[in-house]
Amino acid sequence: MDNNIKSNFRQVKTSVPSNINIVVAAKTRGVEEVRAVIEAGASIIGENYVQEANQINEVLGELAIDVKWHMIGHLQTNKVKAAVKIFDMIETLDSVKLAQEIDKRCREINKVMPVLVEINTARESQKTGIFPQECPEFIKSVSGFLNIRVMGLMTMGPQFGDPEEARKYFKEAKAVFDKIKEIDFPNVNMEYLSMGMSNTYRVAIEEGSNMIRPGTIIFGKRENE
Ligand SMILES: *Cc1c(COP(=O)(O)O)cnc(C)c1O
Repeated sequence: MDNNIKSNFRQVKTSVPSNINIVVAAKTRGVEEVRAVIEAGASIIGENYVQEANQINEVLGELAIDVKWHMIGHLQTNKVKAAVKIFDMIETLDSVKLAQEIDKRCREINKVMPVLVEINTARESQKTGIFPQECPEFIKSVSGFLNIRVMGLMTMGPQFGDPEEARKYFKEAKAVFDKIKEIDFPNVNMEYLSMGMSNTYRVAIEEGSNMIRPGTIIFGKRENE
């Protein structure tokens, strides 16, 4: 099993340009699976749940310190205190209230948290995220928090079906990304556009993604699917 994970990761890695950041989406995966992918060279692990990330970090020990941990799941304000200790980036900022809480909890531990703003491109099929047209105003309103730093955008896009159907959503995310970059808000560095999962990462890269989040293609199908 481990050997498959390792070769699957290496295959993804060699199939994308070297500037693409690969966030290995590890939700529901066990410690040994995450260990295998780190041993194969993964440098960023994406987790959807704070508790799961904590448990895996604890068991991995030293190995966990060698990689970056990204929060890619919806973050509830009551989990922020624990989240800011463990994560190196929060990719799912979607409300001012959440920004406020991340800022507050980071200030307590003297940390500046890099965040991505989650944008809701697929609208009806997607429940979380800021609508594209509201994104500049939203970023303006969170750019003043001193203990968070907006570093780009993240989008889910539609999750099933033909990867080609995701293309227009990725295009829209890239347009918003470029627009915000052009506005050049103080305290905002538009560096990362996180989009593309196992079935869509090729299309996402074609449309300007520089951060992909594959899971299934590396680990195999999740048990609950
Ligand atoms: C599960 C998940 C992924 C990975 O999806 P796969 O289809 O397994 O590649 C990527 N991003 C987020 C936010 C996820 O929740």
